[in-house]
Amino acid sequence: MTPIDDQPREIRYDDAADVEVIRGEARVDTAPEGAPAQGGDGMGCHAGAAEMEKAARMAGKSEILDQYAKDYPQGPHDKPQSMCPAFGSLRVGLRMRRVATVLSGSACCVYGLTFVSHFYGARRSVGYVPFNSETLVTGKLFEDIRDAVHEMADPGRYDAIVVTNLCVPTASGVPLRLLPDEINGVRIVGIDVPGFGVPTHAEAKDVLAGAMLNYARQEVEAGPVQAPVSGKSDRPTVTLLGEMFPADPLGIGGMLAPLGLAAGPVVPCREWRELYSALDSQVVAAIHPFYTAAVREFEAAGRTIVGSAPVGHDGTAAWLAAIGDAYGVDPEKVAAAQNAFLPAIKAALQATPIKGSITLSGYEGSELLVARLLIESGADVPYVGSACPKTKWSAPDVEWLEARGVKVKFRASLEDDCAAMEAIRPDLAIGTTPVVQKGKELGIPSLYFTNLISARPLMGPMGAGSLQQVVNAAMGNKDRMDHMKAFFAGVGEGDTAGIWEGAPNLRPDFRATNLKKLEKAEKARIAANGGVKC
Ligand code: SF4
Repeated sequence: MTPIDDQPREIRYDDAADVEVIRGEARVDTAPEGAPAQGGDGMGCHAGAAEMEKAARMAGKSEILDQYAKDYPQGPHDKPQSMCPAFGSLRVGLRMRRVATVLSGSACCVYGLTFVSHFYGARRSVGYVPFNSETLVTGKLFEDIRDAVHEMADPGRYDAIVVTNLCVPTASGVPLRLLPDEINGVRIVGIDVPGFGVPTHAEAKDVLAGAMLNYARQEVEAGPVQAPVSGKSDRPTVTLLGEMFPADPLGIGGMLAPLGLAAGPVVPCREWRELYSALDSQVVAAIHPFYTAAVREFEAAGRTIVGSAPVGHDGTAAWLAAIGDAYGVDPEKVAAAQNAFLPAIKAALQATPIKGSITLSGYEGSELLVARLLIESGADVPYVGSACPKTKWSAPDVEWLEARGVKVKFRASLEDDCAAMEAIRPDLAIGTTPVVQKGKELGIPSLYFTNLISARPLMGPMGAGSLQQVVNAAMGNKDRMDHMKAFFAGVGEGDTAGIWEGAPNLRPDFRATNLKKLEKAEKARIAANGGVKC
């Protein structure tokens, strides 16, 4: 009897298996110095930020990345946890009259950004210069961008064209600085807004505002510039830094009038000529404190910056005094303005007091101002989280809040915000979408910061009474939240949510094994990355 061979046998039907297989060779990087680094469409939010940053530095973007690291300090929240940061700068460009916006980035990023822009009513086309690996690596993408701006540069339609490099073109070093400064009298502004260098969409607004102010400042230095369409104010003005509810600049103007001053333009501006008037104001109010690049331009123009904002009783009193001081206004005039507005603010704050505890978090940069208003309205606010960084312009608000026992967390992560809400169990949670979702799951009445809170007047007498109604109405929903929680009790949650015919087949052992595998893979990745985590 023939012994059975215990080796597996391969059954062949033809000689295909004998074909010689061509093996690849290790790639040698032969790209000439200064050529764009390779980075295909496979890079994006999902690729390691460190990898993207390394590519960008190799491609000659070190200077701008170092500037961003200085302007927008990172950690512990070091990468976007909300929407793509470039949405901030895109929105600023789209809101300006006679300004065209062109994106250079992966199609998926551009799809998301244009979708969100139109969701928020952009009513304007977003330009896009597509690319593929070849055009990116050979430098053809840059030529395509240059051709596109030449084609678009019609002075009859545009004052400026803003070109934005998203993550992949930034990582690949597409050199927007080599675009002409102006074509046919149309200004060309090129900016890099990578998710691995600009942590929030709030700070991306600053990237574009700063770049435009820098351009406008050089124009002013070079000679006479156009007057604003609305004419020049007959009184000295205060430029307002930060997007705010449209009625707020009017309210601020009313409070400045007794000081002999007027409200200047709001930066980010709505048209190019406003940039000149903004630079023309001797005093700039950093209502939103994270506009580091814009402040740098104002300081280069010799302007005085005043932090915080006229919110609530104490905030308005201190802000009017600081503005008066910066402009050298007679203290008696300042006192008269304070006497004219503070009683009305106090009355509005006391008219419908807020009773209850609130945790507050957001990424707009105005979180501290809202917290001040809520506290002066009677609320107990133990925690305020902002995705934006701490700057010297937020110092007066931090000081005021901390003196009232508030824990203020800058660069707060989603995990920080949720942990605070879960630990405090407030009567109301104000936060970003995932915080609100979590709050509702816990039966805590919750409000979206962006849609429901920051879209209201906050300044002066008008702002003093604007939050109470919405906050009190939401707090009054506690019974409804409890009812809903009771109604849905027992339907399961997480991976057991829904209707099951039998008991859900939970396999915690599979989950534990998988978790171990993931941890092992992560350790190997960090080791291969030279011990660097991200
Ligand atoms: S551009 Fe925005 S969406 Fe695209 S990879 Fe970067 S952060 Fe993500």
